[in-house]
Amino acid sequence: MNQTIHNLITEQLTSWETARNNYEALSTVKVKELNVNGVPYKVQFNPARIVSSGAKVDAKTIQERKCFLCPANLPPVQKGVPFKEHYNILVNPFPIFPRHLTIPEQAHVDQRIASRMVDMLDLAQALTDYVIFYNGPKCGASAPDHAHFQAGNKGFLPIEKDWRNQLAEKVADYQNATLWYMNDAPRATLVIESSSKEDAAHLFEIIYRSLEVKPGEEEPMMNVLALYEDEKWVVFVFPREKHRPACYTAEGEANLLSSPASVDLGGVFITPVEKDFLKITAEDIAQILSEVCVDEQAFEQIRKRIQEQI
Ligand SMILES: [Zn+2]
Repeated sequence: MNQTIHNLITEQLTSWETARNNYEALSTVKVKELNVNGVPYKVQFNPARIVSSGAKVDAKTIQERKCFLCPANLPPVQKGVPFKEHYNILVNPFPIFPRHLTIPEQAHVDQRIASRMVDMLDLAQALTDYVIFYNGPKCGASAPDHAHFQAGNKGFLPIEKDWRNQLAEKVADYQNATLWYMNDAPRATLVIESSSKEDAAHLFEIIYRSLEVKPGEEEPMMNVLALYEDEKWVVFVFPREKHRPACYTAEGEANLLSSPASVDLGGVFITPVEKDFLKITAEDIAQILSEVCVDEQAFEQIRKRIQEQI
């Protein structure tokens, strides 16, 4: 599957001008590194991502726009590779990663994770060169009405390599799976490590049930990253408190266009506006994380509820 996707990317970058231009622009993108309480983060200045960071995802806007993930609305030049018969692996034309995929469900159905965790684990196992990610409908997904995953090449997100050094404690064991949490406040991170797909999926279900569902929402707010290596799945779950930080809508100098999603929580903050890239500090990232992630007290309660169910 890695080779098939490699061929898809090569073909699309030859035949699709928009994608080619955006991937070429990515090679000159500016990056800076910041340290937030001992956890390394990168900041990427990526103007093309305004389409996502600046996306209006209110019900009215979503209803009135033409869904860009529906097969009927894809540009004719965009080609896909089917996965499990009902997903379509596509090249993301607005990349953050040097190799960036969008993996929509064929049908136009709402973005939900509960019934799709096994699909996510299957994708991670099939695409071993990639990290698979899921953004909840109010946690960075720019198509909350059309179920999809994304994938980015490994070796890009700091959390991939750093998590073992930042483990706080084990939360629980479940058969062939272990659940940890990280010492990375103000981010709050649970990590499933499992040699069994079923056990990883079961642990995820327990986490899901332990998270609060906000009024008017249909699933707990979260971002999820999954990867497969050394015959094990590693799944990062970031329970969320809020969609966008106060600075997103702040006036004047306080304004900072940051709409955190899986990639940001994985350690690469995306700033589509250059002035934000230049001014953002480790303190700003800590402030944003403290608003959008669950606080330490809520995180402790979540871990307790998980333990009670195992
Ligand atoms: Zn759609």
